Amino acid sequence: KDTIMDGENVDQESSIEELNKSIAKSAFDKLQDDRKTLPVYPYRDELLQAINDHQVLVIVGETGSGKTTQIPQYLHEAGYTKRGKIGCTQPRRVAAMSVAARVSQEMGVKLGHEVGYSIRFEDCTSETTVLKYMTDGMLLREFLGEPDLASYSVVMVDEAHERTLSTDILFGLVKDIARFRPDLKLLISSATLDAEKFSDYFDSAPIFKIPGRRFPVEIHYTKAPEADYLDAAIVTALQIHVTQPPGDGDILVFLTGQEEIETAEEILKQRTRGLGTKIAELIICPIYANLPTELQAKIFEPTPEGARKVVLATNIAETSLTIDGIKYVIDPGFCKMKSYNPRTGMESLLVTPVSKASANQRAGRSGRTGPGKCFRLYTAHNYQHDLEDNTVPEIQRTNLANVVLTLKSLGIHDLLNFDFMDPPPAEALLKALELLYALGALNKLGELTKVGRRMAEFPLDPMLSKMIVASDKYKCSDEIISIAAMLSIGNSIFYRPKDKQVHADNARLNFHMGNVGDHIALLKVYSSWKETNFSTQWCYENYIQVRSMKRARDIRDQLEGLLERVEIEVTSNVNDLETIKKAITSGFFPHSARLQKNGSYRTVKHPQTVHIHPSSGLAQVLPRWVVYHELVLTTKEYMRQATELKPEWLVEIAPHYYQLKDVEDPTSKKMPRGEGRTS
Ligand code: ADP
Ligand code: MG
Repeated sequence: KDTIMDGENVDQESSIEELNKSIAKSAFDKLQDDRKTLPVYPYRDELLQAINDHQVLVIVGETGSGKTTQIPQYLHEAGYTKRGKIGCTQPRRVAAMSVAARVSQEMGVKLGHEVGYSIRFEDCTSETTVLKYMTDGMLLREFLGEPDLASYSVVMVDEAHERTLSTDILFGLVKDIARFRPDLKLLISSATLDAEKFSDYFDSAPIFKIPGRRFPVEIHYTKAPEADYLDAAIVTALQIHVTQPPGDGDILVFLTGQEEIETAEEILKQRTRGLGTKIAELIICPIYANLPTELQAKIFEPTPEGARKVVLATNIAETSLTIDGIKYVIDPGFCKMKSYNPRTGMESLLVTPVSKASANQRAGRSGRTGPGKCFRLYTAHNYQHDLEDNTVPEIQRTNLANVVLTLKSLGIHDLLNFDFMDPPPAEALLKALELLYALGALNKLGELTKVGRRMAEFPLDPMLSKMIVASDKYKCSDEIISIAAMLSIGNSIFYRPKDKQVHADNARLNFHMGNVGDHIALLKVYSSWKETNFSTQWCYENYIQVRSMKRARDIRDQLEGLLERVEIEVTSNVNDLETIKKAITSGFFPHSARLQKNGSYRTVKHPQTVHIHPSSGLAQVLPRWVVYHELVLTTKEYMRQATELKPEWLVEIAPHYYQLKDVEDPTSKKMPRGEGRTS
């Protein structure tokens, strides 16, 4: 009997293997068929001819027409990769990763082999990679190691209409190298129709238009402005879901960021639970930049029969990612946008009304596979009269210190005459030069110093890089790179479930013992985790997100590698917190603030009222002087991640920046004592 069973099993196994193979084969064939249905496909040969005939080509096509996933494959099939890699830049990390994953599937290869991606702190490419998707910022950094991009045969600056800072700088750099590398092909691709501007900039490069398929989109406005757009968006989504037949299309909601998306997700879950079983299932799919990779794929999974999907997305779904099957778009009309005040050097991320161009892109997402509907949660009058026509390019509303440092390292000195498509405000350029000078990255003549050269090796903001470079002097590079890695994660380290807030807060306070400040607390979190041999259990017990910690460890490893490159020894000085704080201050001294009588703070250099963020370990302590990592504007201007400092350090560390009078106590005329108020 046994033998018979065995025989059966063997048979079954081999037939299952066969079956799996044939399923994989048919999935692959289906992908190949899908590729042929994309709007770009009929233009494949014409497009390849145009690329052959012209060095620079501007390509325009609606979102979803296949620009990003198909064109690099066409070029590969046509043999371009025999001469070098094809690089395709994306403004967003998530897009670079997800598009690379898709293309590797379509080509039937493993991600990271022929098709790979490169984003900051994560290189998923290898020797064999010929199609490389990357963030625009990463290509910018590649110029540092390979100023003529010799290993590339084609560079495709994709999503050019997004006009991110890095894309704008890339324009100038690739235009320049194209002059002395006639063999390099340059593609500038964009989802919007005002391609003339790109063409003009690239010496009248020809424009190749991929005719799109577009179905009519009905636009609905609200009659009166919405007081609470988040609630209005949720209500609208639920109304669509319960009144429209299931299976007729999915919903896409544009929100401004992770927190908002998580809130919406929670409320939607609660309210759908109350709907009972008669109503079809509503599958909630969030998508934002920091969403863990394994969850990102969910938005692309086909909606099961009888259910409906609601995608809660940031701007990323405007043009960077195409989600099939969307019939309804809900557009509250806001996005999070960086703004920069060159006078004070303050940067903030603000929830801002979108531009008309953005609103139209958003609406267009609903009409890709059939007629769609877009619900704008603002009035028609708002749209007509209050929205700007176009979004201001990032270069005109951001801190330029990082870019200026990169350009200086590339040997580009005359920044005022750099070939910008739209120049940044002169004031912002000056401010960046000033900051880099203050940090010691540039000398009085504006030339890169040795410190600046070392700083440029780190893919970080100049203040963070300076903090790391300065840690050499204070012999605490080991601690400082942990802090830098933890700061780079943002605010997703501590986990605070609604039903266990007290426990979570207590766990967090443990790391703040002795009022060490937020930077040292982050260091303690990292070192404690390391001591447990990176235990997941430990993270659970301490209400810490293990995923964020793993990412911090990755980043830290890379920073450690970079230390070696700039010949800084890894040295530890863990028992001398004051020294570690001094190293932090060496990078962040421009971010110092002094306590006011009413419990608020005043920034020292460009006086402005700010507050310690309630999540800070120092929120109840209120030391007299602090140095902070960044400002965030929510209900007030908050300092996030603050550490106490002694004012005399400012004069000691940055004598060219602070004078005694800046840090003197105005009432006593004496040097203030450094100790914080310990009430
Ligand atoms: P474009 O760059 O012109 O906006 P894409 O090349 O990104 O267009 O997308 C073409 C098609 O590929 C989309 O309509 C979508 O069906 C599919 N696609 C793209 N990315 C993914 C992905 N990560 N997962 C599944 N399908 C995808
Ligand atoms: Mg694209």
